[in-house]
This record gives sequence, C-alpha cells and structure tokens, in this order.
Amino acid sequence: MNFLEKRILQEGIVLSDTVLKVDAFLNHQIDPLLMKEIGAEFAERFKEDGVTKILTIESSGIAPAVFAGLALGVPVLFARKKKSLTLHEGLLTSKVFSFTKQEESEISISSKFLRRNERVLIIDDFLAHGEAASALCELAENAGAAVAGIGIVIEKSFQQGREKLEQEGYKIESIARIQSMNENGIQFVCGEKE
Ligand code: 5GP
Repeated sequence: MNFLEKRILQEGIVLSDTVLKVDAFLNHQIDPLLMKEIGAEFAERFKEDGVTKILTIESSGIAPAVFAGLALGVPVLFARKKKSLTLHEGLLTSKVFSFTKQEESEISISSKFLRRNERVLIIDDFLAHGEAASALCELAENAGAAVAGIGIVIEKSFQQGREKLEQEGYKIESIARIQSMNENGIQFVCGEKE
C-alpha cells in the first residue's frame, strides 16, 4: 500500500459504493506535505514525457497540479468552470458532464497560455467516468498542443474512465487505484508502486 492509499484508509469517507469523500486532505482542507509527495510522484512517473505545461481544472485539481508543476519545473494552467469577466480573449471551451453534480457545464481556458508544440500533462483529483480528463485533453488538443499524459490522484478503477482514456491512446498514471468500496471498507488495485 502506498502513502496515499494509507491516507485514504485513515481519513477517506465512503459516502456510497461510488463516491468517496476526502475533504480532510484534498477536497476541502488541503495537506501541503501530502500534496508535495503527490507532486513528486507525478514528476517521477512523467519525467520522460517531455512535459512543458500542466493543465488541470478548478478547484480540487489545483493543489496537486501546482506541486507537480513545482517538481517538474513547468507552469500550471487551470480551466475555469465559470465564465470570468477578465477571461474573454481567445477563449477555448469544452463541455464536461460532472459525475458528482450530475450536470453539464462548460470549462474554458485562454489560448494565450497554451500554445502549439506544448506537451501537456493533465492532472485531476479523481477519475470516475473520464469526462473531466477528456474535456481537458480536448482543450489542450484544440489549442494545438499534445497531451503528454494524464495524472490522477485517486482513480476509481471500477468506473469506466481509465478504459475510455486508454482506448483514446493516453498514458494514465493514478497514485491510488480503488478496486471497490462499500460500508465495509476500501480495496485497492494490487501491484501499484510502493
Ligand atoms: P469524471 O469526469 O472522471 O466522471 O469524474 C471526475 C471528476 O468528478 C473529478 O474532477 C472530481 O471532482 C469529481 N469526482 C468523481 N468522483 C468523485 C468522488 O468519488 N469523490 C469526489 N470527491 N469527487 C469525485
């Protein structure tokens, strides 16, 4: 079991068979030391992929993305979920269906910060059905950049996200991979890196 899996067992709350709450260290209160370790782990796993920029989505992707950016020495861009008054020039948008909110929304970035020939690492807090990660890949590709890979903090491997993104040809690295969860506990996919 790795450092993140241990932490999930200690502080994660299983809300249902499909939803995990980790507001003690990631989704509400943030543990900077844990984020630093997560950032270093992403940097190790993507060090050969020529990453020039990290792209994530507000708000819970930002903390792990910033620490990955620090470890890789690259800037971090986050897609906005709400239109900003100051963000209008060269706006790139993509639609995303939210698993937790069960509604469709539009995410956007300014093309000014994502150029052709960049190699983008997508980072997000959770992987469920792959909607958020797919929308981020679409934003990067619409900007003419290449997706170097997708880094996920917590993957729920019993949902279809990984399969869908792998079929699209993306490299995916998840620090914790949940095989199943219920009121009796959480099981992780075996064979993950210690
Ligand atoms: P997907 O787009 O892959 O279906 O879902 C991923 C997004 O939904 C993530 O950005 C995350 O914010 C949210 N999400 C999905 N599953 C969970 C979960 O079990 N717990 C929490 N806290 N967020 C989740």
